[in-house]
Amino acid sequence: MKLSPALKLTLWYLGFIMLLSLLFTTFVYRVTMTELERGFRRPTTDRQFFLFNGFDNYEDLRLQRLHEGESNLRINLFMFNAVVLVVGGGLSYWFARRTIRPIEDALETQKRFTADASHELRTPLSVMQTEIEVALRDKDLTAQDSRDQLKSNLEEVVRMRSLVDGLLRLARNGSAIELTEMVDMRDILLSAIARVEKTSRAKKIVIDQKLKTVKLQGDRENLIELAVILLDNAIKYSPRGSTVHLKLTGNTKDAKLVVQDQGIGISPDEIHHIFERFYRADTSRSKQHVEGFGIGLSIAEQIALAHQGQIEVESTVSKGSTFTVRLPITKAPSVS
Ligand code: ADP
Repeated sequence: MKLSPALKLTLWYLGFIMLLSLLFTTFVYRVTMTELERGFRRPTTDRQFFLFNGFDNYEDLRLQRLHEGESNLRINLFMFNAVVLVVGGGLSYWFARRTIRPIEDALETQKRFTADASHELRTPLSVMQTEIEVALRDKDLTAQDSRDQLKSNLEEVVRMRSLVDGLLRLARNGSAIELTEMVDMRDILLSAIARVEKTSRAKKIVIDQKLKTVKLQGDRENLIELAVILLDNAIKYSPRGSTVHLKLTGNTKDAKLVVQDQGIGISPDEIHHIFERFYRADTSRSKQHVEGFGIGLSIAEQIALAHQGQIEVESTVSKGSTFTVRLPITKAPSVS
């Protein structure tokens, strides 16, 4: 029979409690018995008392009282241990569940993460395997076919590489992010815009910028990555020819970055899940036509959290989404 971890831990706790209780019981039993025996050994001169109670022999009364006392003591100690067993069992189980639950949750998250990551990696690998097998079986494969084949394989490799990079990032859980530099958020956003320029141009999407200079303590590369993820999503989930608004403001306390699009929006049911790892909104629009693994926003949130900041989202289906990032300015605030 396989016991659940909570039950195993319960038995350990209970075993420990019962061991203490039995040690305590033995001690009490010994001490009390010694006292009882000593008390009954005391000489009694009250002969009338014995005769009145029908005992003509002092020894008989002494032994009977001793046995009564002993049996009462045993019953009481037995009851005490039974209560300790029941109450201790209940408490042990409660403590065991409390101890085990976060560990089980963490293991469950880890399992799901591994399963999702394997699934995402399996798809491009299967595509590549099939393509390579078909190509190898084709005796009339020309140099041009081979080149096309390699090009297609390379696309899959690039996809896998970006997924593995993302997975590594998530696995590090923000530990590699160091807030040692004083960075200018305006510069960071300009670099991010440059990185998404190709995709925005391909969809004829205009990025309307209103950027103040806001300096804060942070990690430059990671902040660029955070902005790229939000801009990239805004472009991915928006129709051709639309506008993405990018606004950066700041005060002495924090920097506020707003990325607003006129895209497909996110339904109220799904909006609570979009920061979960591997979650992709279940609309055919996003699943069928838009590339992605569903880890971008998890990474973006991790970066914001590593900067003691936060990301919020508001969205209306078919109208668009607004992502707002607030990052505290931890040292030497500077806004202009
Ligand atoms: P990916 O974009 O790779 O699917 P993300 O983690 O970046 O993964 O986003 C998770 C999901 O959130 C997306 O699949 C999409 O459904 C939804 N989403 C994110 N940004 C937007 C946006 N600007 N407009 C509409 N939906 C979005």
